[in-house]
Amino acid sequence: MADCIFCRIVAGTIPCTKVYEDEACLAFLDIGPVAPCHTLLIPRRHFETIADMPAAEASRLAAPLPRLARAVQAAAGAKGINVYQTNGKVAGQDVPHVHFHLIPRRAGDGLGFHWPAAKADFAVLAKQAEAIRAGLGA
Ligand code: 5GP
Ligand code: ZN
Repeated sequence: MADCIFCRIVAGTIPCTKVYEDEACLAFLDIGPVAPCHTLLIPRRHFETIADMPAAEASRLAAPLPRLARAVQAAAGAKGINVYQTNGKVAGQDVPHVHFHLIPRRAGDGLGFHWPAAKADFAVLAKQAEAIRAGLGA
């Protein structure tokens, strides 16, 4: 995709600070880091969202995540790490090429996710689960 910024990074027409690559993916430091060592992992092939990916491509993208998470967290000297992924504008996706954020965390870093947890109604959960299973064809 000529007009996709991450495809251009894959093609090498836009520079990046690369930390990892294999046949299927590339990982580089985020240009707008929310924490030291904030890293992005992307597939070389263009897919807009995770839902667009064939399972085999998603597997190849997820494969380096554990090793990368360990290395990013250690390099940042952090106590934990968030692996964060956005799909669609409403979910905060600015770059429409699938990517995982690896964000090292430390106490008091001020980062967070607004998480207004409700109390579950089990009748409602049952209906929701039914809809999801139907979507899965289960
Ligand atoms: P999103 O909001 O789509 O989940 O995240 C996109 C991320 O890509 C942002 O954190 C942003 O800073 C990063 N980003 C956007 N353009 C570039 C770029 O040209 N180079 C790098 N390294 N990161 C980018
Ligand atoms: Zn792309």
